[in-house]
Amino acid sequence: MTSNVGQSYPYTSETEPERAAAIAATVSAYEGLADKVRHETTPLGDDLRWWVWKCPAPGCPGHLHVAGYARDAHAVYVVCDTCGRTALR
Ligand SMILES: [Zn+2]
Repeated sequence: MTSNVGQSYPYTSETEPERAAAIAATVSAYEGLADKVRHETTPLGDDLRWWVWKCPAPGCPGHLHVAGYARDAHAVYVVCDTCGRTALR
């Protein structure tokens, strides 16, 4: 496990359509984010529900949604819907 894998517990969960919509809206809002996510993740499987975490960035009220599996780690790759920050969970 790498040092940038967060240890926090999930905040809630969402359905696959909710997750896909949140990620689509977020990556379209930040220049280059879609390419970054595409390069750093592998596609998700067929799960119907996904965890959502609170963004740990100071002052950010956003939530972290699963964007894919991290290409280089056994973790899920998450993106904040408010600040665009990426992290592993
Ligand atoms: Zn955030």
